[in-house]
Amino acid sequence: MVEKLLSDYTINQWIEEKPILKSISQLENVFWLNPVKPDFESAMNRIHLSAKDVREAEQRLERFAPFIKVAFPETEESNGLIESSLDDISRIKKELELIYDTKIPGKLLLKRDDTLPIAGTIKARGAIYEVLKHAEHLALTEGLLDSIHEDYTLFASEAFKAFFNQYKLVVGTTGNLGISVGVMGAKLGFKATVHMSHDAKNWKKELLASRGVEVIEHPTNFTMAVERGRNQSNEDPRSYFVDDEHSLDLLLGYSVAARRLSKQLDTQNIIVDEEHPLFVYLPCGIGGSPGGITFGLKQLYGDHVHCFFAEPTHMPSMLLGLITQAYDGVSVIDFEINDKTIMDGLAVPRTSGFVARLLENFFSGGFTIQEEEANYWLAHMMDIEDIALEPAALAGLPGPTYLMTTRQGQEYIKQNQLETFMENATHIVWATGGSMVPESDRQVVYKAGKAIEPEVFIRKK
Ligand SMILES: *Cc1c(COP(=O)(O)O)cnc(C)c1O
Repeated sequence: MVEKLLSDYTINQWIEEKPILKSISQLENVFWLNPVKPDFESAMNRIHLSAKDVREAEQRLERFAPFIKVAFPETEESNGLIESSLDDISRIKKELELIYDTKIPGKLLLKRDDTLPIAGTIKARGAIYEVLKHAEHLALTEGLLDSIHEDYTLFASEAFKAFFNQYKLVVGTTGNLGISVGVMGAKLGFKATVHMSHDAKNWKKELLASRGVEVIEHPTNFTMAVERGRNQSNEDPRSYFVDDEHSLDLLLGYSVAARRLSKQLDTQNIIVDEEHPLFVYLPCGIGGSPGGITFGLKQLYGDHVHCFFAEPTHMPSMLLGLITQAYDGVSVIDFEINDKTIMDGLAVPRTSGFVARLLENFFSGGFTIQEEEANYWLAHMMDIEDIALEPAALAGLPGPTYLMTTRQGQEYIKQNQLETFMENATHIVWATGGSMVPESDRQVVYKAGKAIEPEVFIRKK
């Protein structure tokens, strides 16, 4: 297909071609079904990645587990795996049913990546994987390691640290990616520099500085902070840039979550097959984490898993990229969308072209959440389930209600012949961050959320 260039189109021309873009540009809630997603088998024939890539990433993390266990004692219990629990949230399910006036058939579970060790966000999966892969590559090519079968606790030694101290890691971020890269990088001995956008929270900058990471603040959005970081890094041959917009390694690091999740589902006796559909709702910024997890889950469950990404109404960059099929050729700014959001982890105005083109084959669809809506659920998640999340981590929560209350949601259930199996469904909302937010910051957002009446965000049926 010939890709369209935004410069050829005005907003009105886009809207004429794809009417949903009008609702999106007016900051209305939308639930969008992906019209070009083929079945799983055809999707795999179109791309150059496979289940083998996911397994290799999983094995690399297993090699590093003994090092992680030594370097980060909080991973002692999980034997050096950076993993989170999968919890039942039936109380918040009742509240969702009440507020959105619907019934959610099946189970509702929360994947607790807000509690991931080391970094407290989903970034700990992708970013730490990429940093470790780079460190392994340097150690092998520079002769510190003879083979991948050596004892990886060597990575915690002073000799390795001194070696890595000659090298630099650079990253551009709204904050969370910087924490994961910065903390792991500093532990290995790398000099780390984090370029931050204006959305970055102060406590995130302070935390990084306290770990010896250099923080460069830019008065710009995410896309431009990444650009500047990349330029700086490219000038230095000993510098490695963790590129949130183009990184296959990040995506594969995230994808390992699927294999771990599948073991947790087995342990909880949860079946996923034709008669037991799995729905997963994933907050989406640049697209790497929802994309990687979706890719990994698809390798395991094929057409029986249904993955939807979630974005703020003020940052629908993946939606715009996929609906226009211009991918990273469009940004929220082109659609004159006010790009201010409290969901700072999702504050990405232009999606990743690489992720969007790949995941077009796997995402079932996407939807948006309003500012007040995320803030309301943040407060009520604390009250009802005693779980403290950061705003971005709430984005997926309304997902099941979209499926049940919208015409498109019902259409999706019919098209996939799931009507009679919905009672057997499992819905997983992916909570992506929160445990590292300082109490004072948490209280401010909590209070704001308590003051919100659901009437301000309830969608018209
Ligand atoms: C980065 C992030 C996401 C989204 O991940 P992307 O790879 O940017 O799509 C979601 N939630 C939180 C808390 C994040 O930090």
